[in-house]
Amino acid sequence: PRLANQIAAGEVVERPASVVKELVENALDAGASRIEVDVEQGGAKLVRIRDNGGGIDEADLSLALSRHATSKIQDLDDLESVSSLGFRGEALASISSVSRLSLTSRVPESEAAWRVEVEGRDMDARLSPAAHPVGTTVEVRDLFFNTPARRKFLRAEKTEFNHIEEGLRRQALSRFDVGFSLRHNQKPLFSQRPADSQVDQERRIASLCGTRFIENAVMIDNEASGLRLWGWVALPTFSRSQADLQYFFVNRRVIRDRLVAHAVRQAYRDVLYNNRHPAFVLYLELDPANVDVNVHPTKHEVRFRDGRLVHDFIFRSLHRALAQVRP
Ligand code: ADP
Ligand code: MG
Repeated sequence: PRLANQIAAGEVVERPASVVKELVENALDAGASRIEVDVEQGGAKLVRIRDNGGGIDEADLSLALSRHATSKIQDLDDLESVSSLGFRGEALASISSVSRLSLTSRVPESEAAWRVEVEGRDMDARLSPAAHPVGTTVEVRDLFFNTPARRKFLRAEKTEFNHIEEGLRRQALSRFDVGFSLRHNQKPLFSQRPADSQVDQERRIASLCGTRFIENAVMIDNEASGLRLWGWVALPTFSRSQADLQYFFVNRRVIRDRLVAHAVRQAYRDVLYNNRHPAFVLYLELDPANVDVNVHPTKHEVRFRDGRLVHDFIFRSLHRALAQVRP
């Protein structure tokens, strides 16, 4: 079975950033309000995620590393209504088959913490007592140490780290209610407490997307027909030379979608006659029954039940907000 894990790992674990993404999702699913990410050498040497979530008890600890072990769905009917980020039970099994992984955890009901360790696919998991506050720490060392072909595909440390940072930026933008910190080679990159107020949220955005963005953005918040769109859109006074700053979340998940992109661009052109790429951090909220975000778990696709309605709502919301501040 561990060979199957190693093969599956090719799909789940492409690079260190995918490890960080999966482990942070697990921490979020566990209800953490604080997630610390520590990375060494672009994640190739070490990825460590520490959370203060609900933890894993001793009995479930080894099980958590086996394939299709998920605590998040009980039967197939749950698939329809799943709200957790992970539910396939593949991430830990896959990651542990291509790294040296340890999982240390304590549940609130227990005085003691436990650790399970595994190295690659040829070894059984070792369970031992450990010291740890309530919550979980996962350490992933020497990613792809036993799959040299894949290790060779890792890019420069800086490149791999940039992917990690971008991924975590998206997660931090999607969960203002959770504190995040990131360190690379012991150096703190950011550290953010949960952001409850709009001021805190804008401070987080400033630190993740730059102060110039938030200083040149207008906040919008519009609600109609069971849809809500809120967030920040940049005015033409904001110009960005580097990569696009375009974040669109649907029910807290970052997505890339042609229909959404079209609605945003059209509103910009209509109001501002601006052909530059718009910059934005936007959140669309709607009844989960009206959107399918699980089209593909690692791609960022969505399918709206009523695409026309969503398109027009986004267009109108942005149009109104931008028209008010037209220079
Ligand atoms: P999935 O997230 O799809 O269920 P994973 O392989 O990512 O599968 O995780 C397997 C199981 O391990 C989860 O269902 C969960 O019960 C447990 N788990 C993993 N990470 C954590 C964590 N940080 N805190 C609490 N439980 C966790
Ligand atoms: Mg998971």
